[in-house]
Amino acid sequence: MTFKQLEIIEPILKAINEEGYTIPSPIQEEAIPLLLSKKDMMASAQTGTGKTAAFAIPILQNMTQSNNTKGIKALILTPTRELAMQIKESFDAYGRHLPLKTVVIYGGVKQKNQVLKLKRGADILVATPGRLLDLINQNIIKLSQVQYFVLDEADRMLDMGFIRDVKKVISLVPKQRQTMLFSATLPKSILNLASSILNDPSRIQITPEETTLEAIKQTAYYLKSGDKQDLLLHILKEQKNASVLVFSRTKRFANKIAKRLIENKVSAIAIHGNKSQSARTEALYKFKQKQVRVLVATDVASRGIDIDELSLVINYNLPDVPETYIHRIGRTGRANHKGEAISFICEEEYSLLKDIQKHIKMEIPVNK
Ligand code: AMP
Repeated sequence: MTFKQLEIIEPILKAINEEGYTIPSPIQEEAIPLLLSKKDMMASAQTGTGKTAAFAIPILQNMTQSNNTKGIKALILTPTRELAMQIKESFDAYGRHLPLKTVVIYGGVKQKNQVLKLKRGADILVATPGRLLDLINQNIIKLSQVQYFVLDEADRMLDMGFIRDVKKVISLVPKQRQTMLFSATLPKSILNLASSILNDPSRIQITPEETTLEAIKQTAYYLKSGDKQDLLLHILKEQKNASVLVFSRTKRFANKIAKRLIENKVSAIAIHGNKSQSARTEALYKFKQKQVRVLVATDVASRGIDIDELSLVINYNLPDVPETYIHRIGRTGRANHKGEAISFICEEEYSLLKDIQKHIKMEIPVNK
């Protein structure tokens, strides 16, 4: 199957080609024709499956092919700032030969720049729920023209306590619309939500590679946050040649960690959302080719990292969401290889550790 066979229009095909994608991923193959025909959809698929393109491409195409009014016609609601930025980048990339504008808004930063961009006009809006409601309440955003609505990572959205905000937003979107819901897992709460917002949806299930935590040796170190760099160096010196994936919570920290490693003569490279797609691809290539020993990544940037012989994952910081812990350490111990995952835990992270242990239903042994 090719993208052309999915009847994607020329300007988008060109952009996909420029992104370097050769064939559609399974979710794209299934979802794109359905969404082009304006069906509602519920998909259980995780990050890394190519789900963003699976909804972004049909939205861009359908918008291009219909009479467009002014205003926000597509709304993508996603739980975190990182995901929001990533989705906006995807719309920009696949839509680069189209005259459509995508704006992203999220909390935690001043609203001024976001408002300026909105005022210049947006066809597609990518948003986290809180900031979106804020700007709606200030009459800066109107959702009355929305025809395409995506609820991304719905389960995470609920886990993060956004359910009321999400429902509020949905009540403000016109009923006449195409709705797409994506969720890694489908607990009852999501099924309930789905049945209340979707109209005769098609269901798609993309099962990720099974991760068996049993195959992974997990260890935790309790330490002061200031001692993390030294411990990292120590572990890397002990495990002389192994390829190591280090997870950092922030982009800034990813850079810092990589820099310190290089200063200590360990070959390392950082990848995160501030780096261009080509820089990320190159970093990954070097890591896979073992030209670089340590890859320092943020969660978002690590999507799509698929390395068969990765022997060690280090959580320099614990992730906020327990599910992410499984995603992270699942990168090791693949294809019958023995894997190891080490987590550095400082005092502020104790409660995260508790949540993770509850989630994975096991205690992570502590190395003192
Ligand atoms: P997502 O699941 O949407 O987070 O996408 C995961 C990664 O796969 C992103 O870095 C995309 O750029 C990349 N990607 C998406 N679709 C394709 C494709 N058909 N071929 C190659 N890479 C892709």
